Amino acid sequence: MRVGLGYDVHKLTEGRPLVLGGVTIAHDRGLLGHSDADVLIHAIMDALLGAAALQDIGAHFPDTDPQYRGISSLKLLAHVAELLRDRGYAVENIDAVVIAQKPKLRPYIEEMEQNIARVLQIDSDQINVKATTEEGLGFTGSEDGIASQAICALVSQKDGMNHDSLSE
Ligand code: MG
Repeated sequence: MRVGLGYDVHKLTEGRPLVLGGVTIAHDRGLLGHSDADVLIHAIMDALLGAAALQDIGAHFPDTDPQYRGISSLKLLAHVAELLRDRGYAVENIDAVVIAQKPKLRPYIEEMEQNIARVLQIDSDQINVKATTEEGLGFTGSEDGIASQAICALVSQKDGMNHDSLSE
């Protein structure tokens, strides 16, 4: 079993859609970034890459590369899933939190989880997304930005082999 940690922040700005967990959410501002700036998916990708010791999303998807301009982060997540599969890792579970003062995210959480589960080809009970505010404090409280944190566990084929050899 291997665990990984991810953290990301994007700035809120006018004239951008707000995309979280692959869901476009009605709001007066959106997140600024080279891709769709889906801060939740970015944190999840960094957790997954970290668990596999595969650096971070900046190394895989540089924000200077025009092919990633405006791209759905779900496509990037699909690529991360492929990297993990190639190395014999399977996702055990992911837990994530979005830290935003506004808007209320509860109505969108289930769709976010469905998007993530579909792209990673895991069951819906292997992914949990939460939302919280920081009670008006800091940059999320002042609505200057939205942050996200994620943690994940991966199991590898090597783990399975170890278990088999122990039971023999
Ligand atoms: Mg990011």
